[in-house]
Parts: sequence; C-alpha cells; structure tokens
Amino acid sequence: MSGHLAVVGLGPGDARCLTPEASEALAAAQALYGYGPYLDRVPARAGQTRHASDNREERARAATALQHAAQGARVVVVSGGDPGVFAMAAAVCEEIEAGPETGRTLDVTIVPGITAMLAVAARIGAPLGHDFCALSLSDNLKPWDLIERRLDAAAGAGFVLALYNPISRARPWQFGAAIERLRRHLPASTPVVFGRAVTRPSEQIDIVTLDRADTVEADMATLVIVGSRETRVIRRPGKLSLVYTPRSAAEVSA
Ligand code: SAH
Repeated sequence: MSGHLAVVGLGPGDARCLTPEASEALAAAQALYGYGPYLDRVPARAGQTRHASDNREERARAATALQHAAQGARVVVVSGGDPGVFAMAAAVCEEIEAGPETGRTLDVTIVPGITAMLAVAARIGAPLGHDFCALSLSDNLKPWDLIERRLDAAAGAGFVLALYNPISRARPWQFGAAIERLRRHLPASTPVVFGRAVTRPSEQIDIVTLDRADTVEADMATLVIVGSRETRVIRRPGKLSLVYTPRSAAEVSA
C-alpha cells in the first residue's frame, strides 16, 4: 500500500470555515500531526492516532509525518488558516527537498483553508480590495532588518499590508518598531485594523488610525491590516465601520 500525506488548512477557527475538502481529508486520515491547539479543533474519530508537537518544531513534525506516510499510512498534517501561508505546507516542501528519496515518491496533497487576513478583512469590509501584501513580523526565521526593508518597500509602493505574527512573548518590541517604521511612509490618519481570534468565541475587532496603532494590544492570535493612502473608513451609526480599499488607485489605470 502506498502512503499519502495531506497538509490541511483548518481555517481561522469556526468549524463552519472548514472547507468540505478539508473535512473529507480529516475524516480519511489514519494519523494526524500538528500543533496541539490545532489538533484539538479536529473532532475525534475512532482508529485515528494523534501526534501533537510544539509550534516551533515544524521541520521535525514534517519529517516525522513524511516518514509515517512513507510506511504506507494516510497521514494528515494540520495547519491553522491556510497551510501555505506561514505554515506547514512550506515546512513539508522543505523537508521533501532536503530529506530522503522516499519523501519525493509519496502522494502529497495540499488542502487550502481560509487564511487569517481574509477572515479579518471579511469582518470589516474590503480592506484588501486593491493591491496588498502579506508579511510575517516574526524574526525567528529571518533577520529583523529584512523585515524593516520589506515594510519600507511595501508601504512605500502603496500596498495595503496584512501583518501576521505581530507579537509574541519572545518578540515583545517588534510590533511597535514596525508601526514606527510605517509612520515614515503613511499619514497618521491611515486606517489600521486589529482582528483578534477572528471567528472564535473571543473574537475582537478594533479599527484605529496609524498614530494610535501602538496603543492597541495585539497578541499571537491577532492579524493587523494597515491600509494604504487609498483605504477609506465609512462610519455607520450603531454599527462597526466599514473599511475598504477602492478598486482603483491614483496612479494605476484600470
Ligand atoms: N497559516 C495561518 C497563519 C499562521 S501564522 C493562516 O493562514 O491564517 C499565525 C498568525 O496568523 C497569528 O500570529 C495571527 O497573526 C494570524 N491568525 C491566525 N488565526 C487567526 C485568527 N483566527 N484571527 C486573527 N489572526 C489569526
């Protein structure tokens, strides 16, 4: 029997955000691998084994899951959101490239999921309605000065920014430094959206301006969207404001 490895995106939290394709892949698994809190979101099924590991052990998890699949099992590795966005699909590819030949002969499927920036954007309108880019503020896997150069380039070029991994216990100052950096390029009135634990019971959305962005508390479950010069806020009585970026930009023709 030939093994199979699927890397499955669980979406931002709410089970309704899981795609039918992801549900099918989870149901067919003989073994599930992933970060413990993500595995906890997967309903228990008889006959499935579960292998929880720490969030920072992605390469080791990928190697173990590949070995298990190479023995002939149907193995699933889970990721929050989309597995291809700062997550396990790239770790699995890195391991397939660097690891033993058996990894390259396996069937591998990547099952997409709703990534955090899309879940947050949908809550408040259409901030990603025109050109945008996604950046992780984590300097675990890249140097901080590269992050600063990318912030400069993206904000300077007029992209809306979706900032993943804004802060953690081990990275307390980076988010403040990133906001400080963005103030060099963008007006104080630029809309900034904080989406925390979106689609989960503790969801919280805050809409502020760039000059106040460092007064809002972000955590590891927060995604931050920083608007461009084009991004607008529509105030609505008794309702959350709508934040959107129009589909045309000053120097871009249709
Ligand atoms: N693969 C995931 C991202 C992993 S990086 C995805 O596609 O969403 C982890 C970061 O994702 C967190 O630090 C946070 O910035 C963001 N994130 C994940 N789930 C979130 C949620 N429900 N609400 C807001 N941000 C979330």
